[in-house]
Amino acid sequence: MRLVLVGPPGAGKGTQAQFLSKHYLIPHISTGDIFRANLKAGTPLGVEAQKFMDAGELVPDSVTNEMVKDRLTHADTANGFLLDGFPRNVAQAQVLSIILTEKKTPLDAVLELKIDDSEIVARLNNRRSVESRADDAEEVIVHRLNVYHEQTAPIIDYYRTEGSLITISATGAVDEITTRAITALGNK
Ligand code: AMP
Repeated sequence: MRLVLVGPPGAGKGTQAQFLSKHYLIPHISTGDIFRANLKAGTPLGVEAQKFMDAGELVPDSVTNEMVKDRLTHADTANGFLLDGFPRNVAQAQVLSIILTEKKTPLDAVLELKIDDSEIVARLNNRRSVESRADDAEEVIVHRLNVYHEQTAPIIDYYRTEGSLITISATGAVDEITTRAITALGNK
């Protein structure tokens, strides 16, 4: 199963990705997690990414695309993967298509987690108090949502046109959403 998860910040992508990666026995590849790990370790990549992350901006494509390209060469992706947080704009989606076309391993599905902005702000305010992520500050949340609508949402049409898009509602209990996702993915 080669899967991409798309949805606004706070839609529960990370949580669902953990369950889905266990269910399908595929690695969960979160570009946000990779950036945060680099930041914590103080690597040059982490230092470069930090200013964009703290501001709620996308890290430049040149940096992000190379990082994903490299990650997809690791042996654990041979039987599939779940990408969470990538692609984040149409240019990244095009790069991913090129990488996967070269490998002759196209995506099986792109799963969109759909949720209203008002619910997201409430959820992210809650996550800020639990996880204390710098980029969950309220004004940064609003900015990240704007970035999502302006830059990331267009990939939904890109994948709809391509025919790989599956959309589910991301409201309700975590386990209900997981079941909904697995049912929607069916025999992909
Ligand atoms: P996330 O954990 O997916 O919400 O990502 C946290 C932050 O990491 C984002 O707000 C961006 O600054 C950065 N980031 C994660 N994935 C990408 C990506 N595909 N392209 C650019 N920046 C990204």
